[in-house]
Amino acid sequence: MDAAARTQLEQWDRDHVWHPFTPMQAYAAERPLIIERGHGCFLVDVDGKEYLDGVSSLWCNVHGHCRPELDEAIRRQLEQIAHCTLLGQGNVPSVLLARKLVELVPPGLTRVFYSDDGATAVEVALKMAFQYWRQCSRPQPRKTRYLALHGAYHGDTLGDVSVGDIGRFHELFAPLLFSTLRAPQHHCYRCPLGLARSTCRIDCAEAAVKLIREHADTLAAVVVEPLLQGAAGMIPAPEGYLCQLREATREANVLLIADEVAVGFGRTGSLFACSREEVTPDFLCLAKGLTGGYLPLAATLTTDEVYSAFLGKPDAGKTFFHGHTYTGNPLGAAVALASLQLLVDSVLPELPAKVTRLREHLERMRELPCVGDVRQQGLMAGVELVQDRDSKRAFPSAWRVGPRVCRQVRDQGVLLRPLGDVIVLMPPLAIELSLLDRLCDVLYNVLQHLTPEPDAPSQA
Ligand SMILES: *Cc1c(COP(=O)(O)O)cnc(C)c1O
Repeated sequence: MDAAARTQLEQWDRDHVWHPFTPMQAYAAERPLIIERGHGCFLVDVDGKEYLDGVSSLWCNVHGHCRPELDEAIRRQLEQIAHCTLLGQGNVPSVLLARKLVELVPPGLTRVFYSDDGATAVEVALKMAFQYWRQCSRPQPRKTRYLALHGAYHGDTLGDVSVGDIGRFHELFAPLLFSTLRAPQHHCYRCPLGLARSTCRIDCAEAAVKLIREHADTLAAVVVEPLLQGAAGMIPAPEGYLCQLREATREANVLLIADEVAVGFGRTGSLFACSREEVTPDFLCLAKGLTGGYLPLAATLTTDEVYSAFLGKPDAGKTFFHGHTYTGNPLGAAVALASLQLLVDSVLPELPAKVTRLREHLERMRELPCVGDVRQQGLMAGVELVQDRDSKRAFPSAWRVGPRVCRQVRDQGVLLRPLGDVIVLMPPLAIELSLLDRLCDVLYNVLQHLTPEPDAPSQA
């Protein structure tokens, strides 16, 4: 791109584009990064500079960019049709994808409701659960509440924000939200119960189970991110945690919503996180990796039991009156099918070696003076930076250490996006070992020069 065209684009980006989760004043004060192309695990900006996509374009890319098989699947579908509605009619790829998903997810999830994003996938589950208790065979209209974890993130629509608990994002909207029961986080580095994982009995799970039992008669559903809370700061759950929630919800007649928007499609090492603990939730919410990171498409899967409560004559009022214009988009479904094929055939078998390599890199980082904790679940990881390792004291938030580290990493050709002072590592699952090494080495080198003082010359 020539210099004049580039300058024009940058100006229009500043003048007109309001970026999500972005402090716009600071953004507009700098030259924006504008991506023009991608190939494999790299993004290429308008200057032709290449960056390693270290967070999978916000946790969704699976096979890298411009994968010929995926591009081809879209092209082939484009010759048929780009879009038609799913309201009262079907389209070919959405039927085939529903069938494929049902084959791959934990057994018992047989009904697929499409939407467009993670937020809508969870919102759908929340509304379905609510409606279910009103029209199941033994209705329980008092079941109107949800239980979720402290630090939870389930998307940005108001229902999702109500079950979410990230102060910085959600607090302001409190007057608009419904109230949600909170269980403690399974945060082993900063245990809310003051315990140590080596000696505890997963007391946080016990606390959640107790809440579920106590509030069974008013609880519609429990919402959880299986195996790892993502946006909360990459916080893995102890083994068995999910299983305990499943048993408790089943006993207490409460529905379980598994939000696998972040952890689904191989991220944790298995195709779905729930499968690792042999859990079948009542709702499984899928999005980010569903299309390999190509197009917006989401799905909420549920059981025949839930589905059947919505059956009846058209005027019986049992219909689920919810949907989006682009629900079940054929292009999205077509690329999702191609992505799943690649994932199952070639990506999953090669994953264990990458997970091990990432673990080795993280263990090396753990030794650095400003690293308080490293956390990993499959090919998703967080490196928590602290000012003082012994006391686990965080850096003052005004120093914006996480964003500054990512800025330095970017200058060395790697794109990362932090969660506060937790540096997230989440490359495309198809990344080669040599690129995984490069990603981790660049971060290691930056962290090596990070000091606990704000004005030390080594800190950008
Ligand atoms: C990203 C995310 C969402 C929201 O998905 P969007 O596609 O951004 O709406 C919901 N839940 C979890 C666990 C997520 O990580």
